Amino acid sequence: MTSFKTLDDLPADLTGQVALVRVDLNLPMADGVVTDDTRVRASAPTILELADKGAKVLLLAHFGRPKGEKVSTLSVSMTLDAVQHVLGREVMFVPEITGPVVAQSIGILKPGDIAMLENTRFWKGEEANDPNLAKAIAANGDFYVNDAFSAAHRAHASTEGLAHVLPAYAGRAMEAELTALEQALGNPERPVAAVVGGAKVSSKLDVLSHLVAKVDHLIIGGGMANTFLAARGVNVGKSLCEHDLAATCEQILDAADKAGCTVHLPYDVVVAKEFAANPLSLRTCNVHEVAADEMILDIGPQATEALADVLKTCRTLVWNGPLGAFETPPFDTATVALAKSAAALTSEGALVSVAGGGDTVAALNHAGVAAQFSYVSTAGGAFLEWMEGKELPGVKALEQP
Ligand code: ADP
Ligand code: MG
Repeated sequence: MTSFKTLDDLPADLTGQVALVRVDLNLPMADGVVTDDTRVRASAPTILELADKGAKVLLLAHFGRPKGEKVSTLSVSMTLDAVQHVLGREVMFVPEITGPVVAQSIGILKPGDIAMLENTRFWKGEEANDPNLAKAIAANGDFYVNDAFSAAHRAHASTEGLAHVLPAYAGRAMEAELTALEQALGNPERPVAAVVGGAKVSSKLDVLSHLVAKVDHLIIGGGMANTFLAARGVNVGKSLCEHDLAATCEQILDAADKAGCTVHLPYDVVVAKEFAANPLSLRTCNVHEVAADEMILDIGPQATEALADVLKTCRTLVWNGPLGAFETPPFDTATVALAKSAAALTSEGALVSVAGGGDTVAALNHAGVAAQFSYVSTAGGAFLEWMEGKELPGVKALEQP
């Protein structure tokens, strides 16, 4: 595994030092109030550890898409109350990221105090990854800590550039994420299973292509399974299906075959004539019995049971994408059942289970098993790029030669 420095590599006493800490404060808001502070809670241990060691901690983050302009409604100070609440500390807001205003603020801070710098994306050099901006930010700090894995797929000044101009460390949340991902696909215990579900094959082509070469079992569910089934000559009726991707599906299946990866497609499915909660037309059938006016909305109970048996033979699981239209009951059944199986195996110590993706996290929370998984990534885009086998610039920049 490529290695990176962590907070353990810093001196125990950081009194007199200024830490520039990249966190994720791109929080969901409604009517000016933060509706979910998960991302703040993820980085709280890093922030508090540095403060408690005596550093003056300067938080760096982006908020929304101001595109290099100062947009007052996109000031990161919109998150100040939520951050202070989660940290249980006072946080000073500084409306700049470079220059004398930041320097003066540092002069006011005492060792162990925390400040929040303005939205990094107010400055054009952030998204352009301008080395001059990185240097100007760095001029006010002694070292850089990146705790925002969710922003690591972007090569921006605050996510990548700073790591080149200051001593750079992974924060605790970044460290946990990288360790979990390494365990899941970098250097996993075999056999490895991947569950890939969700709506569309087209959005996850790179994920599928990467995984067939990496895992022993590829479990395909959700709307994506319909596309694969159709490519195999199954009549999927009115199901969500990308018929134009038939050839691509065949290529993926061929690649899997060559790599010794077993692909699992459902052989029974749950169908309905209309997409609604508990529709009258609901029924379970073999994939070859879907009527022209029906759509597949979940994988069936036999397939789910067979997949649970596959997981029992595996040591590692990586999961992205629900198996059915889980937001609408009863099309959450297979996702909930397989998530519970994976959680139970994880609790027994038989399986390392890593999951990620916006809807996947929601589905695991809905199943009530997110806490039992070995690791659940809330990083969305960065998690998917990692599943595609891409090198994340923010992570790469932390790596030690
Ligand atoms: P993630 O956000 O975890 O990466 P996706 O966004 O790829 O997951 O996919 C989630 C969506 O896929 C959900 O909204 C779910 O309703 C939808 N979905 C899953 N199975 C089906 C299906 N058979 N038909 C239609 N939509 C489906
Ligand atoms: Mg999604």
